Amino acid sequence: MNMLQQSRNQVLAQIQAACTQAGREPDSVQLLAVSKTQPSNVLAEMYQTGQRDFGENYLQEALEKITQLKNLEIEWHFIGHVQRNKTKHLAENFAWVHGVDRLIIAERLSNQRGEDQPALNICIQVNIDGQDTKDGCRPDEVADLVVQISQLPNVRLRGLMVIPAPNNPQAFADAKVLFDIVKTQHAHPEDWDTLSMGMSGDMTEAIAAGSTMVRVGTALFGARPKKDA
Ligand SMILES: *Cc1c(COP(=O)(O)O)cnc(C)c1O
Repeated sequence: MNMLQQSRNQVLAQIQAACTQAGREPDSVQLLAVSKTQPSNVLAEMYQTGQRDFGENYLQEALEKITQLKNLEIEWHFIGHVQRNKTKHLAENFAWVHGVDRLIIAERLSNQRGEDQPALNICIQVNIDGQDTKDGCRPDEVADLVVQISQLPNVRLRGLMVIPAPNNPQAFADAKVLFDIVKTQHAHPEDWDTLSMGMSGDMTEAIAAGSTMVRVGTALFGARPKKDA
């Protein structure tokens, strides 16, 4: 068995164990392979192990890989910071965008999504633990965003994405509470099924709190080159 197969099996086993421990169904948590800084051939090898969802942070790097791997049936997720002038590329090339934190971004993504494409899946990024960052909206802005974004025609609002500071399990619990509360604001509540939280170091805690999608890089691919902080 090759290394990627082995590490993926380990991560899947960890997800399963976390689900069992939390009394949740093992298939209630999806594994997103975070492949930033990894070359296309490594992604292709991971694909051979059965992985279909890949997450990228840097647009230019992602677009190159999407072109190189266009013959594979990959679901591409953009998990980086969304800049207003990059929305067209995101709308045209990805299946998911996790980092939407303003209405204007969602509107542009909806307007720029191709007529022949299925609706773009998006998550609202929330700065759940009040970090000193410009990424993510405030928790008290989420309800209004859900009302407005869920009415846009070419995006499907799936849920929330959070990146709390390390060692703060309360942030996961807060995200779950918010996730459950704002579902009722959604124009199509049945679409509201995704709580994107948990990474290599804290996926077990995130699953215990109710995560439905963990974004895992290092535990699958090994350490990234230093330049990527
Ligand atoms: C890099 C990254 C991850 C994966 O982090 P690991 O610790 O390598 O698992 C998850 N989510 C986001 C938003 C990231 O930028």
